Amino acid sequence: MERISWNQYFMAQSQLLSLRSTCTRLSVGATIVRDKRIIAGGYNGSIAGGDHCIDQGCYVIDNHCVRTIHAEMNALLQCAKFGVPTAEAEIYVTHFPCLQCCKAIIQAGIKKIYYANDYKNHPYAEELFQQADVQVEYVPYDINFIDPKSDQKRRLVEELIHRLEASNLGDEEVAEMKNAAHALF
Ligand SMILES: [Zn+2]
Ligand SMILES: [Zn+2]
Repeated sequence: MERISWNQYFMAQSQLLSLRSTCTRLSVGATIVRDKRIIAGGYNGSIAGGDHCIDQGCYVIDNHCVRTIHAEMNALLQCAKFGVPTAEAEIYVTHFPCLQCCKAIIQAGIKKIYYANDYKNHPYAEELFQQADVQVEYVPYDINFIDPKSDQKRRLVEELIHRLEASNLGDEEVAEMKNAAHALF
């Protein structure tokens, strides 16, 4: 059994948090870590007690949903609310932070960002991180740590599709199965 790395462990936390997101546009999770300990976490959602996008639809202005607070902000504000210092901390995010979160992360004294997915990476955000000496590292999330049989499952499905293709089943039916399989992995 392979031991999960710290990076994958914290990224998995962010991935899990993203599943709590209430905005249908994008599910994002963020975990703030100091000295290998989780000090806060957040996901993108409405203010506490507010309407949720998943119930009321997004409130879109200039192509942005203004109802939600971003995951990174929520994690930082959790620290503010409970008086937890963020200086010299690190943050694990499922998606590359937007410009607003980028500035908040820098200003909160966070020194390193790990992100799992590129998301409209703004060149100005990259420039600001560099200026502020905040390290940015791409850490793709590896589902195999949470589901150790993930690769085996994928290979089995691929094999089944191959056999279907070689069978007498209609092309359309096989294509349907193939699409369904692709949607799963
Ligand atoms: Zn929304
Ligand atoms: Zn943001």
